[in-house]
Amino acid sequence: MAGENVLSIARSVTYDISGKRIWVTGHRGMVGSAVVRRLSRESCEIVTAGRTTLDLRRQAEVEAWVAANRPQVVVVAAAKVGGIHANATYPVDFLYDNLAIEANVIHAAFKSGVEKLLFLGSSCIYPREAPQPMAEDALLSGPLEPTNEWYAVAKIAGIKLCQAYRRQHGCDFISAMPTNLYGPGDNFHPTDSHVPAALLRRLHEAKEAALSEVAVWGSGQPRREFLHVDDLADACAFLLKSYSGESHVNVGTGEDVTIADFAERVRRVVGWEGRLVYDTARPDGPPRKVLDVSRLAAMGWRAATPLEEGLRGYYRWFLDNIDHIRQ
Ligand code: GDP
Repeated sequence: MAGENVLSIARSVTYDISGKRIWVTGHRGMVGSAVVRRLSRESCEIVTAGRTTLDLRRQAEVEAWVAANRPQVVVVAAAKVGGIHANATYPVDFLYDNLAIEANVIHAAFKSGVEKLLFLGSSCIYPREAPQPMAEDALLSGPLEPTNEWYAVAKIAGIKLCQAYRRQHGCDFISAMPTNLYGPGDNFHPTDSHVPAALLRRLHEAKEAALSEVAVWGSGQPRREFLHVDDLADACAFLLKSYSGESHVNVGTGEDVTIADFAERVRRVVGWEGRLVYDTARPDGPPRKVLDVSRLAAMGWRAATPLEEGLRGYYRWFLDNIDHIRQ
């Protein structure tokens, strides 16, 4: 009973990050790089470790790095991520790598006395049949969506690790669960990416090649919510400064669109005039995924970037980085 009460409390706190040394893991990825951009507007010191310096799957390496660099705050943005196809293709990477990364970083943070840690997960932690929009307490209330359960199980373990260190050792470790993301630094791999990057690239290449038809995976009917990664980074800064509690916190817009509607928006932003066709041999995944963001809204944070505007900036970033993306 006591545990349930603790879990339901979303506590407002003030934690001053100015002057703090903050380790952003995964700083080369879409989320980590956005968090670095956002935190560089604060008067804190950001520390990062490149892949060649530090393999986060190696416990001894992580503990030695943390002991030597002594961050006061940690943001766990490092993870093996990918879309519906990648999840099905690399189950070991999604489960083992993510479990190892989060266990090593969180335990090393505890050992070195880190003051605050923010663990980032994903909305796929929720059961496939969770009532929509999905509130934080839908966690572990039913079976997971099979297309991404490897990743989901790892991320649920990360939430539970943060809760366990809070309970047993009094650590101020918190978790945030963002919805589907897009933005600068996304992974544009043709098959392993998520739907925003996959469609942006495919439709751009269709425009270049003057194709008349492009395939969108699945039926186009699933509903998804899309959050600009800069909004997520802003929510991370907000939560570091003003939240402490056992419950993870959803981060999203609270609004969803069908994949067909989303594909049409991407088509308009790219300026390709052809026809979208639906490849129903490809999986749809869960029929609907939209987060209940009322807990974060009650704390005073809302997403700021409208989807159309976000997609236009996303396409500009893609065009500016196309040579690197195609390598
Ligand atoms: P999910 O939210 O975990 O299912 O992640 P995805 O971003 O991979 O897929 C979201 C939805 O977009 C699913 O219904 C996919 O079938 C659909 N989709 C349509 N076209 C594509 C594509 O080219 N790549 C991906 N990854 N998904 C696509």
